[in-house]
Amino acid sequence: MKILSKTRLENVFNKLNETAEVFVPMQRGEQSGFYPWQTFAAGSDKLWLEALNVYLPPKNVVFPQTERMYNIKQEGQDVKIDETYEDSKSRVIFGARACDVKGITCMDDVFLTRGYEDSFYKARRQATTIIANACYAPGIACFCSAMGVKYVDPEGADIIIRDIGDGYVWETITEKGEMLTARIADLLEEREVTLPEPKPFQQDVNYDGVAEKLKGMFEHPLWDKLSQTCQNCGICTYVCPSCYCFDIQVKMYGNEGYRFRCWDSCMYEEYTREAGGGNPRPASKERFRNRFLHKLEFFKERYGHPLCTGCGRCTVVCPAGISIVKIIDAVKEADTDA
Ligand code: SF4
Ligand code: SF4
Repeated sequence: MKILSKTRLENVFNKLNETAEVFVPMQRGEQSGFYPWQTFAAGSDKLWLEALNVYLPPKNVVFPQTERMYNIKQEGQDVKIDETYEDSKSRVIFGARACDVKGITCMDDVFLTRGYEDSFYKARRQATTIIANACYAPGIACFCSAMGVKYVDPEGADIIIRDIGDGYVWETITEKGEMLTARIADLLEEREVTLPEPKPFQQDVNYDGVAEKLKGMFEHPLWDKLSQTCQNCGICTYVCPSCYCFDIQVKMYGNEGYRFRCWDSCMYEEYTREAGGGNPRPASKERFRNRFLHKLEFFKERYGHPLCTGCGRCTVVCPAGISIVKIIDAVKEADTDA
């Protein structure tokens, strides 16, 4: 088995950093997320590979919160595109958990399949190598397994690392992973180890049949009750590893400017407001219902799996205590005969 000793982690980051931007999980002040290794401040940042879920998932590496798309120039009635910003700089995500890797593969479905390829996403995604950190002790809010995520054998990763205490078992999965492994091969050692036994989940979640049952529940009174406390703050969408809604805006300086896209949230009233003033989701209830139907029903119908990876972040951050787990339970228990 190939092993990466924890004493050599920084050497690996430094080596990879010579040719790629390396994103690692860190605690930074009150915040935690995947930040570039070259910004690591030894006195104040903490490298946090043991964390099950840092506050922000690494989706911004392939789908940035704000992204310039192209420059534009207005000449009379014509608008010319000057320069596009398809960003193919090499990047490495080091230590993503299975739920976050699944979040990225959900975005692959959206941006790269069904007859359309988003060139901005594609450029970043192709240049990104994912090293997943297998989970052996699911956290209090985790329920990824119920959503079909293989937490011990993360799918979609180029390399999988497994924590064995003093180091990580290093398993190369894809060709991209092999190229990366070749760069740091002299920092790995050969040793036989026993892998840990995965611990059980701390909560029981049963998603079986939920997508199918939701098909007949669009007008169900349960949405009035469940959405009552939602403040439409949108934080659940921003911390979610699989939410991908965005808006496209323009910034002009005289007759020159640029278009950019930035994350949006279906929880906002403006999200579906139309130019003529109409809005198909004017109230909190409609937006709330849409979010959970999209996560649990619509996406599964289109792509064969839910748009929730069971990371538990939205249940932890919601100021109103709304939990997708409780929504799944409520749907299971709902009376649909009336
Ligand atoms: S975090 Fe909670 S209150 Fe805020 S929009 Fe999401 S469900 Fe509603
Ligand atoms: S919906 Fe909530 S639990 Fe599911 S992936 Fe998004 S943040 Fe995680």
